[in-house]
Amino acid sequence: MKTIVECRNVSKYYGDLLAINNLNLEILDREFIALLGPSGCGKSTTLRIIAGFEQITSGSVSLNGREICSSHFFMPPEKRKIGMVFQDFALFPHLTIGENIAFGLSGSRREKKKRVREMLELVDLESYEKQMPHMISGGQQQRVAVARALAPRPRLILLDEPFSSLDTQLRIQLRNDIRRILKKEGVTVILVTHDQYEAFSFSDRIVMMHEGQVVQKGTPMEIYHKPINSWVARFVGGANFIPANLKNRWINCPLGQFEEKNGTPAGNGHLMIRPEDLQVFPASGADFHGTVQACTFLGSREILKISLTDGQEINAQISSRQNWDKGSQVRLSVEHFRFFPEESPTKLSL
Ligand code: ADP
Repeated sequence: MKTIVECRNVSKYYGDLLAINNLNLEILDREFIALLGPSGCGKSTTLRIIAGFEQITSGSVSLNGREICSSHFFMPPEKRKIGMVFQDFALFPHLTIGENIAFGLSGSRREKKKRVREMLELVDLESYEKQMPHMISGGQQQRVAVARALAPRPRLILLDEPFSSLDTQLRIQLRNDIRRILKKEGVTVILVTHDQYEAFSFSDRIVMMHEGQVVQKGTPMEIYHKPINSWVARFVGGANFIPANLKNRWINCPLGQFEEKNGTPAGNGHLMIRPEDLQVFPASGADFHGTVQACTFLGSREILKISLTDGQEINAQISSRQNWDKGSQVRLSVEHFRFFPEESPTKLSL
């Protein structure tokens, strides 16, 4: 499969601040990538470098096999043929919806009109051509912004937190709509987001970023179920960390003994268990692991806070049809886990 974007050893300083630290990234044709990470980790800077709004300090970036920037070369943004959609829609308020979509188009009046019509149809806004941006809803404005970005037929679309100014219900609906529209157009997409659910549901592959570096790349499933370290595990979901010791391929911890199959070297560490990977049963005899301290009913599921015999507390996520009372003594069965060798205290507290 053809590589559309390639970042090689890209670093970017703002004064003394190293915003991007030796970033390597390869994005394939028609792939949907999410740059995911906390605020300030360098996601937008990466996007702006690719778009041509920022110069890099070292390394190089190629688009469709052609170098677009390095420490000695810079292709201006308008030459890169990349479409962008921002968080705040950024439509021109004094232009109609149709004129907004036509803005970046070249060609004859007839060709432009035809392309605007196609785009309006694609985003399901055929009857809004003559309306002004303030007359339509936030979700509709964002669909216009996507149509405007797609109109000149770019191969690559960059989305910078495009759904975050919308309320939850609309955000999910719009995300699904825009994903479908962009997949239909067959473009390559880079989405910047700090929301793991957005990254999971939108992208084919996630690039996890932290402090200007890529920490892990993988499918949403790999990132969630096989996080590379405790920081990634925590960032993308609920996670219990139980002190454990690994010796001769066996992990010992208060919940029992588990076989380690990843070849991790022996030593102390933590067993990471997602709350939904714990099953809860009534305690029987010696098989007693802990006591239910609190039950939180969430409709589709229930969260049990359980204190283990050594005093530490963990969360289990169970079906909300199970009925547990505070004080119930329970046995826990671990469905899936990851063992993380001891990390430095600063890393664990990230
Ligand atoms: P994110 O998009 O992940 O929130 P950014 O790429 O915006 O992160 O920022 C990465 C780091 O670079 C942050 O520490 C931020 O404060 C800094 N930064 C971003 N833009 C500038 C700028 N124009 N001048 C100075 N520092 C900046």
